[in-house]
Amino acid sequence: MLAAAYIIASTLFIISIKLLSKQNYARLGNGLSALAMLIAMVATMMQYTVLNYELVFTAIGLGFLVGLGVARLVKMTAMPQTVGLLNGSGGLASLLVAVAESTRVSASADFQQVVIALTILIGGVTFAGSIVAFLKLARLMPSRPIVAPLHRVINGCLLIASITALLAIEYYPAYQVILLSAGIALILILGISAVMTIGGADMPVVISLLNSYSGIAACLAGFILSNNMIIVGGALVGASGFVLTMIMCKSMNRSLATVLFGAKRVVHQEASTSKKPVAFTPKAINPVDAYYRLEAARTVMIVPGYGMAVAQAQHALSELGDILESNGAEVYFAIHPVAGRMPGHMNVLLAEAGIPYDKFVEPDTANPLMPNIDVCVIVGANDVVNPAARDRKDTPIYGMPIIDADKANTVLIIKRSLATGFAGVDNDLFYKDNTIFLFGDAKMMLTDVILEFRDQLPGA
Ligand code: NDP
Repeated sequence: MLAAAYIIASTLFIISIKLLSKQNYARLGNGLSALAMLIAMVATMMQYTVLNYELVFTAIGLGFLVGLGVARLVKMTAMPQTVGLLNGSGGLASLLVAVAESTRVSASADFQQVVIALTILIGGVTFAGSIVAFLKLARLMPSRPIVAPLHRVINGCLLIASITALLAIEYYPAYQVILLSAGIALILILGISAVMTIGGADMPVVISLLNSYSGIAACLAGFILSNNMIIVGGALVGASGFVLTMIMCKSMNRSLATVLFGAKRVVHQEASTSKKPVAFTPKAINPVDAYYRLEAARTVMIVPGYGMAVAQAQHALSELGDILESNGAEVYFAIHPVAGRMPGHMNVLLAEAGIPYDKFVEPDTANPLMPNIDVCVIVGANDVVNPAARDRKDTPIYGMPIIDADKANTVLIIKRSLATGFAGVDNDLFYKDNTIFLFGDAKMMLTDVILEFRDQLPGA
């Protein structure tokens, strides 16, 4: 019965992942995976090996309350860092399972010892790395790479020392507590150090990689517990996270090795290479001027970014798109794969606002259209349209493919100030002759432009 329940749950997990990849069925996929988890949990609980139901139900109750609280309290804009914390929790759970089991496994069980060491290693790196990713995403620490001299050598030494400490337990069981504690401490430092050196445009890759690690750690914990369900579930998360990581690498024009080991000690030379003119006054317009520009436009490319998510401006954006179309313009929504703060962030928000998927274009499709675009409206995006990624080698976004907004006839940027984006790189687009600004909160500015359309063109 247990095996049958696990096979049903595993099959449902696989179907759910398939459904999650299609926007129309994603909600159903989510529901099915929750059902699969329920089946797996009930089946596991009915095993005779469960010794203490009070503890199990207390843990489930606490988990339920925390999950409910997080779902109700965390704002949509704080989802990326919340996802980071969830990855970290998965890593910590696997680490704790491995630690608990390490005291029960016999010293001569070589395979088990190696699996326990690997689980502690990957679980610990996932946990510590995810905390750093959380702090960077929540802006509680600088998002740029923080690179110590010889960091690759230091990380290599930490890795070797931690594995040595964990494997030495087999030969020196009397020192188990000391060796285990030392191994875990070194691994946590390694996780912190590894993610500290990554920042700017490489963060999306790290987030998906940590997600993959949390799955691999769970899969290994499944081997420790000899539980097929955890092995399958962990392997699915590990593999799908890895596929996402490779997709992110491709979108960022980076190899995985470059992201993980490639951070050089960059001395920031923003002031020397920034294209900012000595006396710069941004060309600011008001919503009425923006209306005139947009009303006359026949082709409009809209580029949403993190600021649109902060302002929750997706519905206003959808409405503006409809108005522009009814005014005869051709409208596209250019979505950069790393816009926002989590993979698919913009797709989810625009889909929520009911914008048809066939209006979404990726940079490969958007860029050739750009010279024929009358107005490119940038709504709270910054790094993903920064030409510095094309030509300023000393910036952390160099090499990242961008949306070539600067090639449109007019660039209308909606944001609150001239502040930089996540990568902290001054945006050369601001200083182009064809760039104009509508300064303010994205939702408020879009609403004002929409009201102007309604006033001037009541039928639109
Ligand atoms: P950016 O972070 O580059 O820029 C966002 C801009 O939005 C800011 O410059 C800010 O300017 C503006 N903004 C903030 N609030 C508002 C508001 N209420 N109204 C209007 N504008 C607002 O965003 P992008 O989407 O262009 O780039 C994403 C960045 O995040 C990339 O560097 C990417 O590497 C990184 N990242 C992406 C992840 C992913 O998985 N997608 C994960 C981790 C990092 P101002 O304050 O002046 O308004």
